[in-house]
Amino acid sequence: MIGVLGGTFDPVHVGHLRAALECCEALHLDQVRWLPLKTAVHRPPPLASPRQRVAMLEAALIGEPRFILDQRELGRPGPSYTYDTLFSLRAEIGEGRPLCLLMGSDAYAGFLGWYRPFEILELAHLIVMHRPGYALPTDAPLAELYRERGCQDPQQLMARPGGLILLQPITPLGISATQIRTLIAAGSSPRYLLPDAVLAYIEREQLYRDSPLRSCQ
Ligand code: ATP
Repeated sequence: MIGVLGGTFDPVHVGHLRAALECCEALHLDQVRWLPLKTAVHRPPPLASPRQRVAMLEAALIGEPRFILDQRELGRPGPSYTYDTLFSLRAEIGEGRPLCLLMGSDAYAGFLGWYRPFEILELAHLIVMHRPGYALPTDAPLAELYRERGCQDPQQLMARPGGLILLQPITPLGISATQIRTLIAAGSSPRYLLPDAVLAYIEREQLYRDSPLRSCQ
């Protein structure tokens, strides 16, 4: 099975890395594709450029062969729709191989507002990772979707290419890129919230120092 983790990664941090690794191991994923988006659909644009976000991801992913940087969204014009990404991945890997779209509980809460959510679910399973501060939604449409599609056993994911929703427990790490940008803009250290190599790159490029203090959440 292939895992897919999309995001702004502005910057990538330990919350992303640990969550992806734990999903990889719990679900026996062969790989996790990391997909930096180009044009955000539901949020302000990233502060770091695509080149900088790719460089930070490259630095973060070194040493974990199951983590693969996939730049297909950066090469595509227009908004970075997850549906388009999964559609092109599906065309590459064939009809039968299960795809697992990893997302935090914050992202899942807005899932039904995404472009073509039901078609996304045809292309992939959803793996929802609990993120501190973002309870799993209990409102009607998502709760109903989970009643229809929820599954408890990772083995079930392997039996079909997509269509199921699994809530994956992970070590709760209340780290966000917003927190890291805010610390840097305030002159504080974000050390240990992200890999040292990523922090070294941020310092070299003088990223986020003069950035407006704004939350993307
Ligand atoms: P920002 O603070 O700029 O909104 P972010 O930290 O949420 O950024 P993104 O790149 O937007 O990072 O997140 C990509 C994906 O990773 C999303 O599905 C998000 O829910 C998930 N994610 C991010 N941080 C965590 C975390 N600490 N634990 C679990 N999932 C996370």
